[in-house]
Order: sequence, then structure tokens, then C-alpha cells
Amino acid sequence: MKAFVDPDLCIGCTQCAGLCPEVFTMEGTLAVALLGEIPAEAVPQAVDAAQACPVSAIQIEA
Ligand code: SF4
Repeated sequence: MKAFVDPDLCIGCTQCAGLCPEVFTMEGTLAVALLGEIPAEAVPQAVDAAQACPVSAIQIEA
């Protein structure tokens, strides 16, 4: 699975980076997702972070 953050939607709330730092990091004021596959052990937290994003900026794709 891979994660993507839409930079046009992200409001920089830092929630995803707090919930799943293995996959999401802040770059300046916006979140960016790890390039490449989400480590298997981090998938549940990545999905949680996507669901918690207040502006639905995170997509998780198989
Ligand atoms: S939770 Fe959503 S709005 Fe907040 S930093 Fe992450 S991608 Fe951006």
C-alpha cells in the first residue's frame, strides 16, 4: 500500500505525522507521505491517520 498527501488540501495540522510518523512527516507547513510502500507494521496507523485527517487530504492506495 502507498500513501499520498494532496498538497492542495493539507492544512498542516500535523495530526498525521503525530499518529503515524513512520509514513507522514512535515515538510515546512505541509505533510508529505513516505515514497514507496508503507511498511506492513505501519499500515493500521497510516489508515487511522488518513481517516483522522480533517480535510481528507490523505489517500491510501493498494
Ligand atoms: S492530517 Fe491532513 S491536514 Fe493535517 S497535516 Fe496531515 S495531511 Fe495535512
